[in-house]
Amino acid sequence: MPVFLEFLLIAALIYLWESALWLPKRGHALRRRWFGKKWRVIPATRLLSTRELGVVPMLPVPPDSGLAPCPGFPLATDDTGAIFIETADGDFRKTDARTWDQIRYAAPHLIAGNLSIRCQSPAAMEPLREGKSLGLDSQSAIRRCAALALSPARAKRDLKRWRIVSTPLRLYCPALTLGFFGGIPAAYIFIGSASALYLGAWLWCVMLAISLHLFWIAKHAYPSCRSEIRQNAFLSLIVPFHAMRALEITSVHVFARTHPAAILFASNSTDHPWLHSFIRNLLYPRPNQPGDAARATTFLPEIETILQRKNMKSADFDVAPKQEDDPDASSYCPRCHGMFLRGRGTCGDCGDMPLKLF
Ligand SMILES: [Zn+2]
Repeated sequence: MPVFLEFLLIAALIYLWESALWLPKRGHALRRRWFGKKWRVIPATRLLSTRELGVVPMLPVPPDSGLAPCPGFPLATDDTGAIFIETADGDFRKTDARTWDQIRYAAPHLIAGNLSIRCQSPAAMEPLREGKSLGLDSQSAIRRCAALALSPARAKRDLKRWRIVSTPLRLYCPALTLGFFGGIPAAYIFIGSASALYLGAWLWCVMLAISLHLFWIAKHAYPSCRSEIRQNAFLSLIVPFHAMRALEITSVHVFARTHPAAILFASNSTDHPWLHSFIRNLLYPRPNQPGDAARATTFLPEIETILQRKNMKSADFDVAPKQEDDPDASSYCPRCHGMFLRGRGTCGDCGDMPLKLF
């Protein structure tokens, strides 16, 4: 194989590696296509996952500008004041933490007492710090953080702000990718190696522009994750494949405090199946999982307030699945919508959740 082809093949492989977004396993990425209105919810575990992380592939042609990687908020509290933390599997587990000094961030983990969870950005900790500086106790601060993560107004503002501050990247990143994978080979084949080198030098100027814009974003738009975005800026200066995906990689920090439900509420997608499933899970905590009840105590009052503004209530999401999908079924699980034949009383997948009759 000619050396130039080998170079292109290796470059394409590194590009594909950079096109994979590694998120905490419990997280989701929302994606809206360039001209689409509807959000798709992609769990981080759909394609590939490790013990703590999952992969969300970016669209092969940049920019994947409709991507919003949202992890939600990983702490919950119940009426007794106990603090629960989300596990990599998305369940909430009770910690022995009670006070502020038992909650801390040690990159890249949030630690609460005896348990910890991976966070996708230090920006996720910002609302907790705000709560602490406001003089709130840890339980009230957790409820406030959950409310902020779910807030549709805040999600709308975050989306708009990101769209505005990232506009130059939406031009630079595709220009760099096109120039690298299309322009350089074409110049090399049709004009000569010297012209390919000139084009390479010009493309480095595009990388410089991407890097400078990231420095600007780090300083003026998202100071709470300044050092992480600056790290992206440095890498964008020396690794072309990182610069090609700078927009998507930076969005991980931008949406680190946002819950997927907030974006769906903000875009009036209350009929989204993922949102229905999320609210059903809050309405029907599994009997054998105390963390489910804590999650419902933390998130459900805020969901109820958001729905009230839309003249809705959480009970509107408690509907039966379509029986025509399984005409023999006589009952269903109100949590996971599994359907069952006569004779079964509980759903094993949902911790022996009592079934409802059609
Ligand atoms: Zn079930």
